[in-house]
Amino acid sequence: MKVVHTVEELRDQLRGQLRIAFVPTMGNLHDGHLALMAMAHQHGDPVVASIFVNRLQFGPNEDFDKYPRTLADDIAKLQAQNKVYVLFAPNEQELYPEPQNYRVQPPQDLGDILEGEFRPGFFVGVTTVVLKLFSCVQPRVAVFGKKDYQQLMIVRNMCRQFALPTEIVPHETVRDADGLALSSRNRYLSEAERREAPRLYRLLQQVRERLHRGEADVARIEHDAQRELTAAGWKVDYLSVRRQRDLKAPTHDEVVARLPLVVLAAAKLGTTRLIDNLEI
Ligand code: AMP
Repeated sequence: MKVVHTVEELRDQLRGQLRIAFVPTMGNLHDGHLALMAMAHQHGDPVVASIFVNRLQFGPNEDFDKYPRTLADDIAKLQAQNKVYVLFAPNEQELYPEPQNYRVQPPQDLGDILEGEFRPGFFVGVTTVVLKLFSCVQPRVAVFGKKDYQQLMIVRNMCRQFALPTEIVPHETVRDADGLALSSRNRYLSEAERREAPRLYRLLQQVRERLHRGEADVARIEHDAQRELTAAGWKVDYLSVRRQRDLKAPTHDEVVARLPLVVLAAAKLGTTRLIDNLEI
């Protein structure tokens, strides 16, 4: 695996390649990220991964400074896995050369709801960096995790809007044995919080079961799950059942007609904010 830090070195490595499969990450790689690399390997060749902690997608009071940066360990994991041909690890100057500050603005009805409501500016950060990275790498396919469900949808939408020649391939959420979705932020959890954390996924499963059984009072189902989280000491940002196709709230008739839905949640355990979702 070649590790490159500049766009110029990246271009040198990739000249003439037409079937590039790309996996952008913020590093601190875990088995979820590695599963995306393996999937990329099935969809194209060569596989390019990136590691860049994107300041623009962090709010002023969020964890940009303490976000885990473990480049040497990440390189060792990728080398052991042997699926990635080039790792692109640019610095900020390389992706955000001064003094320009171009931005990609997602539509409000997708970018300002759910995660966007609680993390203002987050999706501007995501779409801006993803467009820049796509421009650097010029991939034919890119793999994104369903763990970040709204992000996946917004990136897909951006590709369609800008007619980018990159196909977005989703990967299922990779979980620990107890159901907790793997995340770089899980390392912030204390031992007690780590034992509590799987409740989030268990509640999403309960929401799905109630809907599968034919219950149609979505507000009540959401409320019950939120209340249980709160009672267990979580601070809930949202836990909401939405339509898969546009993340809008379903009508009663749509719930009864079993339109494809997804339940999405974000909640804080202590100081650690976890997100998860489940398709229904
Ligand atoms: P991040 O490093 O958190 O920006 O994530 C990079 C990519 O890995 C994104 O497409 C995420 O959705 C994906 N990802 C992170 N955690 C998981 C997971 N547990 N399962 C599947 N994909 C994941």
